[in-house]
Amino acid sequence: MTVLLDELDAGELSIRFEGEEPQALLEWALQEFGSQIAISTAFQKDGSVLIDMAYGIDPSVRVFTVDTGRLPEETLTFAETLRGRYPGLNLEILRPEREHVQRLVQLKGSDLFRESVENRLLCCNVRKVQPLTKHLDTLDAWITGLRRDQWATRTNIRKVEIDHDHGAIVKLNPLAEWTSRDVETYLRENDVPTHPLYAQGFTSIGCAPCTRATKAGEDERAGRWWWESNAPKECGMHCSIEHGGFEHELKAILGAGLADA
Ligand code: SF4
Repeated sequence: MTVLLDELDAGELSIRFEGEEPQALLEWALQEFGSQIAISTAFQKDGSVLIDMAYGIDPSVRVFTVDTGRLPEETLTFAETLRGRYPGLNLEILRPEREHVQRLVQLKGSDLFRESVENRLLCCNVRKVQPLTKHLDTLDAWITGLRRDQWATRTNIRKVEIDHDHGAIVKLNPLAEWTSRDVETYLRENDVPTHPLYAQGFTSIGCAPCTRATKAGEDERAGRWWWESNAPKECGMHCSIEHGGFEHELKAILGAGLADA
C-alpha cells in the first residue's frame, strides 16, 4: 500500500513530533508504512541507536546499507556484530552495479577522489547514490540518522520531510533534534554496540580511503574527505549537490538514460 504525504502533511507531522522522543516517530512510522519503510545506515552511532530503537518496536524492521566496495573491513565485521546482537535482523546490503564501477575505474582510476571534488562526487554517485536511489524507488519512506548538529548543511532538517531528490517519498529523521551527547547517553544506557573504529578516534564512518580519525576540537565530520576545502562534507545521498563538472562523465559511466533518471 502506498502511503502518500504532501508538504503540508509533512510539516504538520514535523511539528507534532518535535520535542517528542525519537521512538514516538519510529512507532508511528513503522505502523504507518509497514514493510514499505526502511532504515538507512552506514553503521555510525546514530544508525546503531535507530536500529536498537526500531528493532525494539518491530524486530522485522527493514534496514539497509550500501557496500561501496571501499568500506573498511571493520564495517563489514560490525554488520555481523549487529546480526548477533539483534537476531533475525532484516539487513539488506546494497551494492553498486559492477559494470558502472568498472567503467568508473577504467575512465578515472580507482583513487580518482583525490584529484578533484568533481571526481570525488562522481565516485560517491556511482558507488553510493546510484544504488541508494534504485533502492529508494521501491520504498514509500526511509529513516535516517541525520542530526541538526552534525554539519552546517544539516541545521535545518525536519523530522518529517518529503524527499524530492528521491521520487517525493517520505524521509524521516527521528534524531534530528538530538545532540552527539544524547546519542552517547542512549548507547551507554542501552549497552548498544558501536562500530570499532570509534575506539580508534574516528567520529564519522565512511569509505576507508576517504575517512580519517579526528583530533580533539574538530567537527564530527571533519575526517570525511579531509583534503578538500570549500566542498560540502556530503556525498549526495542526503542532498543533491550542484557542483557541476561531473554529470557528463556520470552519463558516460551509467548510460544517458540512467543518468537522466
Ligand atoms: S567516500 Fe570515497 S571511496 Fe567512497 S564512494 Fe565516496 S569518493 Fe568513493
